[in-house]
Amino acid sequence: MRYGQDLRLLIVGGGIAGLTLAAALEQRGIGAEIVERAHGYGGVGYALSLWPAGLNVLNSLGLRAHLAGLGVRPDMYQAIDQRGRTLLEANFGSFASQYGDNFYISRASLVDALRAAVSIPVAFGRSITHLHQAGDTVAVTFNDGSTGEYDAVLGADGLGSETRRLVFGDLPFAWHGVTGWAFWTNIDIGRDTREVYGRGLYMGFFPSRGRPCCFAAAASPRSATDDPATRRAHLESLFSSFPDWARSALATCTDPSIWHDDFLDIRLPRWTQGRVALVGDAAHAILPSAGVGASLAIESAYVLADELSRTSSIRIPEALLRYEHRRRARVDGVQSQSRQLMWMIRPRNPLAVGIRNAVMRAVSPARFLSMFEPLMDSAI
Ligand SMILES: Cc1cc2nc3c(=O)[nH]c(=O)nc-3n(C[C@H](O)[C@H](O)[C@H](O)COP(=O)(O)OP(=O)(O)OC[C@H]3O[C@@H](n4cnc5c(N)ncnc54)[C@H](O)[C@@H]3O)c2cc1C
Repeated sequence: MRYGQDLRLLIVGGGIAGLTLAAALEQRGIGAEIVERAHGYGGVGYALSLWPAGLNVLNSLGLRAHLAGLGVRPDMYQAIDQRGRTLLEANFGSFASQYGDNFYISRASLVDALRAAVSIPVAFGRSITHLHQAGDTVAVTFNDGSTGEYDAVLGADGLGSETRRLVFGDLPFAWHGVTGWAFWTNIDIGRDTREVYGRGLYMGFFPSRGRPCCFAAAASPRSATDDPATRRAHLESLFSSFPDWARSALATCTDPSIWHDDFLDIRLPRWTQGRVALVGDAAHAILPSAGVGASLAIESAYVLADELSRTSSIRIPEALLRYEHRRRARVDGVQSQSRQLMWMIRPRNPLAVGIRNAVMRAVSPARFLSMFEPLMDSAI
């Protein structure tokens, strides 16, 4: 039987959940191997919002001072319609005094900060191709043909998780009628968050150190083609009714490497099977509409580390079930909320758009901020 630092743990995926898990395990004197499919981090990703619960976990990993220099505390939230008329304004300050800070940070900076909290090396260019659970061991085959034996395998390999596929098979993603693009821009929004709502169209501008990021979304058929050569013209025509300042952001959307995908999420019947557990987007991908997937990934990774630190190799399957049990209600609730928020982006017909705009105008800032209370209030 093995305990603590002698546990043999494999983390698949060195992203936000994988690195948080490794850091939290290390804080408890437990090591792990981390394999990461990419050949390096290379600054992938855009601005992420971090919510108080996720930020508190990062603070407890000793990253408070480090993060303070990397992120932006937002001032104002403003939603406008496509003609530039204000729908809603709220001040993040009151929010912070009630629940704690929220924070915008580029994914690359967050990954750098997390790496500073992990001393074990990340094995880049490495992935898993086969998993077999027998007795108290998980036998793993890697992409280079080498093998290993572990007490637990922790799949932190994101939305398209191979660990999930190897354990549960090909499970369908839920599609939500919208496709999106994310890219960096040079638009000056200061420390504010600004969102523009049109007819089945949305553009959001989010601050981060250096430059803001734009997140554009459109009601669309599933898997619509997106050719980088014609993307700018396509988006300029799609968003032609939007204010000029917002459309000017599209000048930077031509880079072939920008993020473009359908809005997908997944809700699994189970996150664990025996000695394998999924964490972060691999277990509970959340729609970008809520801007909360990274925080939930951080929270889940921390709880998983907590359960693993209080068990022995023999009792790992029970520890993994306890992890899922502790997280499930909160994560499912937030995921449901992220699905409900799609009513703000999807409506196309003028009546539905008019109702949405009227509702947004009628909502007081306090009522608007209270919509986020389930995210703030429930314990992790
Ligand atoms: C456009 C967009 C905007 C978003 N905005 C926000 C936001 O504002 N706030 C927020 O909280 N969340 C946001 N999210 C969601 C957030 O990015 C994710 O929820 C978060 O990154 C999940 O972390 P993760 O570690 O589970 O997955 P990831 O960050 O995707 O990390 C997975 C890692 O696993 C690696 N990997 C993949 N497959 C394998 C494999 N087979 N073997 C080994 N390694 C593998 C990947 O290379 C990657 O490094 C946004 C998402 C998108 C797409």
